[in-house]
Amino acid sequence: MHQTRFIVVTGGVLSGLGKGVITSCIGALLRAHGYTVTAIKMDPYINVDAGTMRPTEHGEVFVTDDGGETDQDLGNYERFMDEPILKANSVTTGQLYLTVIQQERNLKFDGKCVEVIPHIPLEIRRRILDVAEKTKADFVLIEVGGTVGDYQSILFLESLREMKRELNSMVFVHVAYLPTPGNIGEMKTKPAQHSVRFLNASGIQPDFIVARGEHLLDDIRKEKLSVFCNVKSERVIAAPDVKWIYSLPSMFAEQKFDRMLLEDFGLDYKDPDMKVWDDLMKNINASKESITIGVAGKYFDIGDFVLEDSYVSVIEAIKHACWNNNRMPNIVWLDTKDFEKDEKNLSKLDEVDALIVPGGFGASGVEGKIKVIQYAREHNIPFLGLCYGMQLAVVEYARNVCGLQGAHSSEVNKDTPNPVIDILDEQKELMEKSMYGATMRLGAYPAQLKAGTKVSGLYGSNEVSERHRHRYEVNPKYIQTLEDNGLVFSGYSPDRKLMEFLELPSHPYFVGTQAHPEFKSRPFRPAPLFDGLIKAAIGLKE
Ligand code: GLN
Repeated sequence: MHQTRFIVVTGGVLSGLGKGVITSCIGALLRAHGYTVTAIKMDPYINVDAGTMRPTEHGEVFVTDDGGETDQDLGNYERFMDEPILKANSVTTGQLYLTVIQQERNLKFDGKCVEVIPHIPLEIRRRILDVAEKTKADFVLIEVGGTVGDYQSILFLESLREMKRELNSMVFVHVAYLPTPGNIGEMKTKPAQHSVRFLNASGIQPDFIVARGEHLLDDIRKEKLSVFCNVKSERVIAAPDVKWIYSLPSMFAEQKFDRMLLEDFGLDYKDPDMKVWDDLMKNINASKESITIGVAGKYFDIGDFVLEDSYVSVIEAIKHACWNNNRMPNIVWLDTKDFEKDEKNLSKLDEVDALIVPGGFGASGVEGKIKVIQYAREHNIPFLGLCYGMQLAVVEYARNVCGLQGAHSSEVNKDTPNPVIDILDEQKELMEKSMYGATMRLGAYPAQLKAGTKVSGLYGSNEVSERHRHRYEVNPKYIQTLEDNGLVFSGYSPDRKLMEFLELPSHPYFVGTQAHPEFKSRPFRPAPLFDGLIKAAIGLKE
């Protein structure tokens, strides 16, 4: 029988410690030892999935191949572990209650009283074992969202404690923050100690502590944590702030984190194969010249940090493509509302080497985005439109080249005389019934690529699969007109009904896709359309 081993990652002191990245690095290291891995994120919120949450609230919605709308941490898992992550790998409190209540309504509990304990922890366990069974991974990593001591995390910890009691093959890693208060100038261990106490109070003793902080943890403090938290000092792993998160797998290996983990599971240690990580760091370090990429985003109202989270897969995909071409990315955020206020502001675009209009929803800043696209088209600036970005490129072309007056997406203007982007047929009814959750066109869909186009050249294939998340599409009634005016649809669904890729042959690089190729970009294997964008920008610069 296949044996699954479990590694649980909890967090203490603060949220936003990078637990997801640390979980991903552990997975990457185990992969470097030749094991198969997967990772589950347990989110304490009642939302059934991340799909209904505002990106400024929760960060990017990461889409899996099988159409899950999940937490952004799952994106890190895929980027580091390079294994496809399933929808089932995202577990929320909302899903747990929804399932248990549905079962109760269906008389699945034989008239018993259904209670928070044991039924919710049992459902948590069922879901963990389900992922283990579906993936047959050697290691299942389980990241518990939130911070220990949070009221909302208690049932997850309870379930995991019980699992540990029954299965020997479970190891706990606790990630805690060690602050360095400015007035003291010294890294303090006390909050981390308290967070371990919280964990102990839930009946869990961590096997490792990962010490996050601005600085590298020294031996004195390792010893202190060791004494107060009952963890040998070599099992306190330092994880200081780093310039590039992709340097962490090696940093962990240097501290023998992988060796000790394998020992705990009774597995032999051989040197891990770190070639992809070493090569990546070489590329990053060789990236001396920079390249400027303008991103015309939307979620600007709550500050820069929000932006990073709202577009994390796009940002990472830009980095991967830049490093692959030995360039350092310089990302400039463009608030398109500025271009609506005054067209003169468009001259800002002369400073960028490439432009991206990423996915989005709704009317805010849309006219500005259309202006950005027009500027990129008319000034030969390499351009990549992702989902909404492609749809708005069609709107721009329809208005300004095909002369289709007032052309728009019916998402923004229901009464447009020329709805060049229109709602997918199957979506209309859903919207009338307010059925918004998990009902978009979601997940991986295949597309056929037209031979001889830029897009098929970049993918090196006539067929490709990318992930989707949208309700609108290019209106088939306008395809002929658009093509007659020079726009090329370089990829479409196998039944040729949905336009999936577009390009302008007369432009150095003007490409749009209805999909989100950023989700499949890897640090050591950039998404082809991003790579093409950067190559075009470098070509023009030189
Ligand atoms: N709002 C558009 C749609 O629903 C685009 C979505 C997106 O960019 N992901 O079709």
